[in-house]
Amino acid sequence: MEITTIDAPDHERVVEFKDAASGLSGFVAIHSTQLGPAAGGVRMRTYGHPSEALDDALRLSRGMTYKNAAADLPLGGGKAVIIGDPSADKTPRLLKAFGRVVQSLGGQYWTAEDMGMTPADMAQIGTETEYVAGLPDGPFASGDPSPVTARGIFNAIRVTARHRFGSGDLSGKTVSVQGLGHVGEHLCALLHDAGAKLVITDIDADQTARLADRFAAQAVAPDAIYEAQADIFAPCAIGGILNETSIPLLKVGAVAGGANNQLATDADAQRLHDRGILYAPDFVANGGGIVNVATEILKIKDREAWVGQRLEALERTMDRILTRAKVDGVSPHAVAESIVEEKLHPQAA
Ligand code: NAD
Repeated sequence: MEITTIDAPDHERVVEFKDAASGLSGFVAIHSTQLGPAAGGVRMRTYGHPSEALDDALRLSRGMTYKNAAADLPLGGGKAVIIGDPSADKTPRLLKAFGRVVQSLGGQYWTAEDMGMTPADMAQIGTETEYVAGLPDGPFASGDPSPVTARGIFNAIRVTARHRFGSGDLSGKTVSVQGLGHVGEHLCALLHDAGAKLVITDIDADQTARLADRFAAQAVAPDAIYEAQADIFAPCAIGGILNETSIPLLKVGAVAGGANNQLATDADAQRLHDRGILYAPDFVANGGGIVNVATEILKIKDREAWVGQRLEALERTMDRILTRAKVDGVSPHAVAESIVEEKLHPQAA
């Protein structure tokens, strides 16, 4: 196994790993351990070039620093990428070799599930390292984070509605939801129970039809979601969907959802702001997922109570962000980034 340090000026530590025996190759990027050990999942996918995998690890690990800090967790930001096709190249030998990479970092980085990985894979990795979360079983195993993620997004939607429309009561409000997977389905259930009307879409037409039936929702085609008339748009599918093409189409007063990296560029936060659309920063709205994973890393005994407190703290943070954005007349995204920067560099604030 070759583990080589790579120079990356904005990151604390980045390593490239290669193991000829198992075919393992990829990167671990530790963006910051300022607030605690770096935590963030390992993703396995094919990349056109190794430099794309490195870019992904660098960008995603920075995102984890922001998400963990916004959720007030004693965790820093890190991420790992394994280069390869999970359906063809993922073997127990490769996963164990990755476990040895994680162990070699001595607890500076905690890994967990991300794209292309399952709880069973975490168990394989866990045969070689103690720094792994998302295990399928065990005393602190945290299970599927999606229900907790959805609860956090639901809270963010209520806070955003209060700021934008003067009330957090969602009964009679219309929410458009893009993406009806693990998070989107749980979110639709919470919104439906709160009396919201739903406009929904997914590229999986069967899932859209099923949920339209279950929640008496209006189903629309995937591309039509941007033009759907609603009070709040909740993106819960893929990143980059708030961009110069989609933002002019929106017919909503606010955007609050769970997808990672919703803004294609930072300029899109300003675009939303200029249109008077209140944007709940994604890395705050979807922090419930990492809160759930953190119960495993931090070995929390009373998980239910702890998660509840953390979700309330996230809600207060969102409230503070939206209040400050209004007072300062700037986009909530800019405020959220600066609040995290203040946590990371308190002496500079
Ligand atoms: P998922 O894969 O279970 O669901 C995503 C859904 O989006 C799928 O049903 C897919 O068909 C649909 N989809 C994909 N492209 C689409 C498009 N263009 N239009 C409409 N639908 C589309 O994923 P998930 O776990 O529900 O996560 C959803 C988002 O939330 C992702 O961006 C993820 O990174 C983010 N997130 C998830 C969690 C979690 O706990 N699962 C935590 C934090 C953030």
